[in-house]
Amino acid sequence: MDRDVNPVTVRKPDLITVGGSDAPLVDSFRRTISYLRLSVTDRCDLRCTYCMPEKMKFLPRREVLTLEELYELACGFIDRGVTKIRVTGGEPLVRRDIIDLFSALGRRIGNGLEELTLTTNATQLAEHADALAKAGVKRVNVSLDTLDRERFATLTRRDALPQVLEGIAAAKDAGLQVKLNAVALQGVNEDELPDLIAWGHSQGHDVTLIEVMPLGDIEEERLDQFLSLGTLRGRLERQWTFAESDHRTGGPARYYDIAETGGRLGLITPLSGNFCAGCNRLRVTATGQLYPCLGGAERVDLRAALRSDHPTRNLAEALAQAMMIKPEKHHFRMDTRGADPAQPRHMSMTGG
Ligand code: SAM
Ligand code: SF4
Repeated sequence: MDRDVNPVTVRKPDLITVGGSDAPLVDSFRRTISYLRLSVTDRCDLRCTYCMPEKMKFLPRREVLTLEELYELACGFIDRGVTKIRVTGGEPLVRRDIIDLFSALGRRIGNGLEELTLTTNATQLAEHADALAKAGVKRVNVSLDTLDRERFATLTRRDALPQVLEGIAAAKDAGLQVKLNAVALQGVNEDELPDLIAWGHSQGHDVTLIEVMPLGDIEEERLDQFLSLGTLRGRLERQWTFAESDHRTGGPARYYDIAETGGRLGLITPLSGNFCAGCNRLRVTATGQLYPCLGGAERVDLRAALRSDHPTRNLAEALAQAMMIKPEKHHFRMDTRGADPAQPRHMSMTGG
């Protein structure tokens, strides 16, 4: 049971160096891995139409790693040179006792770990903001695609915008830096994006726009959702002055300072501008499956290694294999109506 787990007191010393050595994780294209996206659940309290169908099938709980196992894995990655961990999902804050994991990992900050962050839909952020700040989290990414309550209810299939705005305000009050992420959706929030960006900047938040990716079956046609950020940027530049910024957060976004709003805008362009050459990331699902690429089928089973009789050796082998199979780049395409997704996995599974 997760409820009684205190990941620190139950930590087993023989598992703490996943890979069995201190060697950094370097893939076959000489990219050094420093960033782990750790999914702690595939479940969610929203049903964003671009992410999953209304009747999404979630994994049986027994398949999901315990908080203790998640902690062991995370520590192992830190010991192999990972300096940044983003906890993601599904919705991380729906997982019971998730703050225990943040508190335990927070104690690794300054001891290998440089940054511990979270991506959340913010429906439960008001409740957890103080505890996250206390655990050592300094920045959170909040997904917010619209400021219109009805549109939010249609887009997420849940009427939860007031809670989300409350969560964002609570995070700010708790001293957390909030970055807003919005998926740019053709004909859905396309008309509202300038207002959303301006609102975010007026509240002191960076805003990042993301192109929708063909991951997992959904009920809508992906091609109809897709909006190229190249096109959008052209439009925004007619009303605002963009200056390239050298700001980086370790992720794939490229940033621009906007003179008129005084804020920073990030663009993540997996379709219109491939950024894989600088990829420093690995993703681990809540069931301990390591996907070296969000857009690829390559996978290594860390749970089997972790639960084996020789976890240290088997995890070392699994990580060595992951470094060998991490592909050079993803091959997302968005040009054919009715096309199968690039991967059957939903983003909620691999973690955003
Ligand atoms: N539930 C949390 C949230 O929404 O922030 C964390 C997980 S969610 C999968 C992480 C990010 O992935 C969110 O910003 C979401 O908008 C984005 N996302 C989900 N499905 C996507 C897709 N098919 N293409 C692009 N982004 C997607
Ligand atoms: Fe849930 Fe995040 Fe997916 Fe929306 S994008 S359904 S909030 S996991």
